[in-house]
Amino acid sequence: MKIVHSLQEMSAWRKEQTQAGKTVALAPTMGFFHEGHLSLMRKAAELADNVVVSLFVNPIQFGPSEDLEQYPRDFVRDCRLVEGEKVDILFVPEPALMYPEGFQSSVQVELLEKYLCGVDRPGHFKGVATVVCKLFNIIQPDCAVFGEKDFQQLAVIRRMVSDLNMNVAVIGHPIVREPDGLAMSSRNTYLDPEARKKALCLSGALALARKKVTEGIVDTSELVRLIVLFINKHHGVTIDYVSFADSRTLEPVLKVDQKTVLALAVKINNKVRLIDNGFLSGGSSPH
Ligand code: AMP
Repeated sequence: MKIVHSLQEMSAWRKEQTQAGKTVALAPTMGFFHEGHLSLMRKAAELADNVVVSLFVNPIQFGPSEDLEQYPRDFVRDCRLVEGEKVDILFVPEPALMYPEGFQSSVQVELLEKYLCGVDRPGHFKGVATVVCKLFNIIQPDCAVFGEKDFQQLAVIRRMVSDLNMNVAVIGHPIVREPDGLAMSSRNTYLDPEARKKALCLSGALALARKKVTEGIVDTSELVRLIVLFINKHHGVTIDYVSFADSRTLEPVLKVDQKTVLALAVKINNKVRLIDNGFLSGGSSPH
């Protein structure tokens, strides 16, 4: 595994692969790896001859009051974990190289970014789409793997690739969870044991929604009511959103069907913002 910091070196490596007739899969990340990230790397290795993992804490997707400075980082540990996977390049560009003085262009997926996390995080998905577009241009992957954990991000990237005719296959990968159901996230490291317990309200809410749908409740206003009641029983948890949405458009829906995803965001102790999502009646991520 080779660590590459330079954009030119990354592009030159890609050219060599093209000349040798090799395909390349990309797994974009912000580091502080856990099993969720490693599962994306493994999926990428199944899909192409070579795997590039990008590690870049993208400053332009963080709002002014968000955790850019505190975002967990451990480069030595990350390198060790990647060494254990079939990864060819760990691409770690410097922010100053990605956003040099005078940088002023962006990619905006106008409608999808307005829903769910876009309400409380204005500009977040513009930052995500812009950095992913840049990574695609630098690395020119044949395919790129994204986790369904960040469901809205995946929808935004799919839309961007389709709208702008980018020649990259976007592959969604299922959420990897802790044994007790908590979706893995680099931000889980912010949770003390007490907060960690409260965070289980997310997977608990998904399980409750699935149970109610199985029992025949498909009216989403009733389901939202039950889920809000359930989450509010967890002291110190505040709800950012509970949304039953169409998995392609992310628009709220009135009745649950196979395309409906339940998307959740909460704050634990007014400090740690966590998200989770899942299909309710046998649906799966659009491909
Ligand atoms: P991040 O480093 O948090 O920006 O995530 C990088 C990629 O890993 C994104 O495509 C995420 O959706 C994905 N990812 C993060 N957590 C998980 C998880 N628990 N299961 C599957 N994929 C994940």
